[in-house]
Amino acid sequence: MKIAIIGTGFGALAAAFDLSKTKGRQIELIDERSVAGGLAAGFKKENWDWPLEEHYHHSFTTDKALQQFLLELDLRDQLFYKKAKSSTLYNGQIYQIDSASSLLKFKEISFFSRLRTGIVLAFLKILPNGTFLEKIKASRFLPLTMGQESWRIIWEPLFVSKFGHFSDEINLSWFWARVNPRTPALGYFEGGFQRLANLTVKKLKNLGVKVSLATKVEKITKKGNKFTLSLVNKNGRRIDKQYDLVISTLVSPDFAKLIDLPELKQEKLRGLAAMTMVLSLKKQLLKEGTYWLNVNEKDWPFVAVVEHDNYISNAHYGGESIVYLGRYLEISDKAYHKTAQELLVDYRPYLKKIDPNFDQNVIDVKVFKSAFAQPITFVNQSHFLPKFETSVKNLYWVSMQHVYPFDRGINHAIASGRELARYIEKHLKMENL
Ligand SMILES: Cc1cc2nc3c(=O)[nH]c(=O)nc-3n(C[C@H](O)[C@H](O)[C@H](O)COP(=O)(O)OP(=O)(O)OC[C@H]3O[C@@H](n4cnc5c(N)ncnc54)[C@H](O)[C@@H]3O)c2cc1C
Repeated sequence: MKIAIIGTGFGALAAAFDLSKTKGRQIELIDERSVAGGLAAGFKKENWDWPLEEHYHHSFTTDKALQQFLLELDLRDQLFYKKAKSSTLYNGQIYQIDSASSLLKFKEISFFSRLRTGIVLAFLKILPNGTFLEKIKASRFLPLTMGQESWRIIWEPLFVSKFGHFSDEINLSWFWARVNPRTPALGYFEGGFQRLANLTVKKLKNLGVKVSLATKVEKITKKGNKFTLSLVNKNGRRIDKQYDLVISTLVSPDFAKLIDLPELKQEKLRGLAAMTMVLSLKKQLLKEGTYWLNVNEKDWPFVAVVEHDNYISNAHYGGESIVYLGRYLEISDKAYHKTAQELLVDYRPYLKKIDPNFDQNVIDVKVFKSAFAQPITFVNQSHFLPKFETSVKNLYWVSMQHVYPFDRGINHAIASGRELARYIEKHLKMENL
């Protein structure tokens, strides 16, 4: 049986790993990019020892699917955890807010608001399953329970930064799923997640899986029981290949470019783009030890500052201080189409508020964009979730839009990729294939 898996993100890699355990299958992973790893892919400068993710990445101690996958790949000992400080920039000041005690010290809201906020967070933390909360909008529940002040100063800016004009629509189970599994220690893979993707690809090749990078799938067609994938490689060479079963790990707008399926038109499968600036600096931007800084200031052009070397030593990056500046936006936004240099001009006045000497410290700047990177979780989103099985027999689908109510991430991509593999195995067994 010939199986094509479109994509080499962690969902695709995990599905390929499990499906390759049955002998006699020819499995091919196909990705338009020249590196594996999808949204978690990285890049490396010549003077660096480790590649770096294009978009900031870390995991949590509660990421069981990632831990189990690494165990099976014999790589578990290379996942390490370290505490990392999270803070919030508000009214020109940086406040550490990453624990009950630091929240209690946040004097920008009244003590009563802090207490209410702490009680709500504690409730969400101990609630084992908060999926039922999807019936309620977070933008209604949180101001009512934590108080208007807490909502307006701490939480509303975070919802706006993550979901833009959809921020009022987000359901409360998403917030539960953000709060519940969070741990103070964050996980990282030795050499970064690009290295993990490369090691996984190596393992898959040893298991007989073919990995075709720099190969774009342009079309999926089906005649009888056979699928034809129209492929084009980086030199523009076109080739049609046949398969018995196809798995797409693409988000709905990308999948819809390959085949016309009614389920890809579901209007609740919305998402925002991510745009991440990566700065290499001579000196740190955040000098007080913060790894993750939420920008809760009005009208700043970026919403998160991630000082990577307050988490991972800059010795791996030739002594350069790495800073990510993140934001989510619509692709129709003018900013999404700007170059790194143009964006730096926009960002500079704000960066100088954090460090007046910022200009003297810049080594270089890059910007990475991904057109669909953050699914929107509307009220009762579970009713609109896509299924593994599509309306075309033997064409399966798994993507970050299947991950719910948890926020998309490597751990959940692995969990859903493996769940799909089990689902397919069951179907193939029933059909004696
Ligand atoms: C800003 C940002 C920060 C993040 N931070 C974290 C974090 O801290 N921790 C965490 O765990 N996760 C994080 N994530 C999320 C994480 O990267 C993703 O959830 C995960 O990598 C998704 O994996 P996937 O396999 O579902 O899909 P993807 O990684 O999106 O893979 C899809 C693949 O399909 C390929 N493709 C698309 N179209 C075609 C085509 N026509 N032909 C061939 N190939 C095609 C793409 O090139 C891509 O490689 C972050 C994401 C972003 C954007």
